[in-house]
Amino acid sequence: RTTYRKVPTTAFVSQTCKFASTLAFIESTKEGKIVPSSLNALTAAQELGNPIHAVMLGSQASATASALKSSVKCEKLDKILVSNADAFDNYLPERVAPLLAQILKSDEYTHFVTAANAIGKNTLPRLGALLDNQPINDITKIVDAKTFVRPIYAGNAIATVECSQSKKLISVRPSAFDSIPQGSTESAAVEEVKVTESKPQIDIKWEGENLIKSERPDLGSASIVVSGGRALKDKETFDKLLIPLADVLHAGIGATRAAVDNGFCDNSMQIGQTGKVVAPDLYLAVGISGAIQHLAGMKDSKVIVAINNDPEAPIFKVADYGLEGDINQVVPELTQKLKEA
Ligand code: FAD
Repeated sequence: RTTYRKVPTTAFVSQTCKFASTLAFIESTKEGKIVPSSLNALTAAQELGNPIHAVMLGSQASATASALKSSVKCEKLDKILVSNADAFDNYLPERVAPLLAQILKSDEYTHFVTAANAIGKNTLPRLGALLDNQPINDITKIVDAKTFVRPIYAGNAIATVECSQSKKLISVRPSAFDSIPQGSTESAAVEEVKVTESKPQIDIKWEGENLIKSERPDLGSASIVVSGGRALKDKETFDKLLIPLADVLHAGIGATRAAVDNGFCDNSMQIGQTGKVVAPDLYLAVGISGAIQHLAGMKDSKVIVAINNDPEAPIFKVADYGLEGDINQVVPELTQKLKEA
């Protein structure tokens, strides 16, 4: 059902048929804040050109729908569908997907958009199975209403995918789309979803969560990321060198898989093919070789600075600025200079 074709030279977003609408899945945190990656997904939804119905779920949905209306400027946002059922708290995909499938059965929807974050990645394949539809994952660009660009082979090739299905189920790479502008969209109506098929297909229950609490900017939305590799040697050195540098730059801290596997830091900090994908304004790679699996998670950063004592390290090939030297000397010196600046 999915065909591949060459990237057209001129990108454009076509208007879809008269009755086409997009359903955009918007998540909120337990504190009632809209999840930043959902705001990137909303930008992608707006680019499609259709009227948008946002869907918000969980016991705080009505409150977060009001927060959405008063915090974003989204001309295409017509309606916000809410279900305040606590069954949807924590967005268990086994509960969320059947409800979304129920809504999407309406002919009015031609597109479904969610962020390619943990919840989106968990929900979309189930939704695809329920609707007998092939999802298009992790898009980085919209060419037109049925043509999307997405990285494949860990970002080593770019596929342009033309989808001939009547409904396009899409997840959006957050770092590839700007956040929807701030403002207000008070004209959007809020409507309660009538839940008729919320029963999960398998018995599932939320037991709890154990989150790492951090005052640092979230890796996904940080404008500066300081990232450490195997060269940091142990947890003590990782913290001693990277925390002061990140503090002075107000940066998020990331790591390679080697650093995570060796216990220098928590695995939520891993960047790369099997970790998070980031595209900050500035990415500082400290003692990182630049393996392709790591590059898959950071090579779209606007400016890349690499510190490494091996002039042949592959990271220097993607770096805008390279500093050849020993991190144990260079990093404290750099931190001190930045403090003085
Ligand atoms: P190394 O490759 O060992 O590099 C360390 C670097 O530090 C070297 O370049 C060295 O010159 C430099 N160095 C050493 N001492 C100093 C010093 N004192 N001063 C300055 N520089 C110094 N990796 C990821 O990061 N993310 C992923 O998501 C990921 N997914 C993977 C998925 C699969 C299926 C596989 C097979 C691998 C994956 N990997 C991933 C692992 C990846 O292949 C690399 O092994 C890993 O990225 C290497 O991490 P590193 O750069 O920290 O370590």
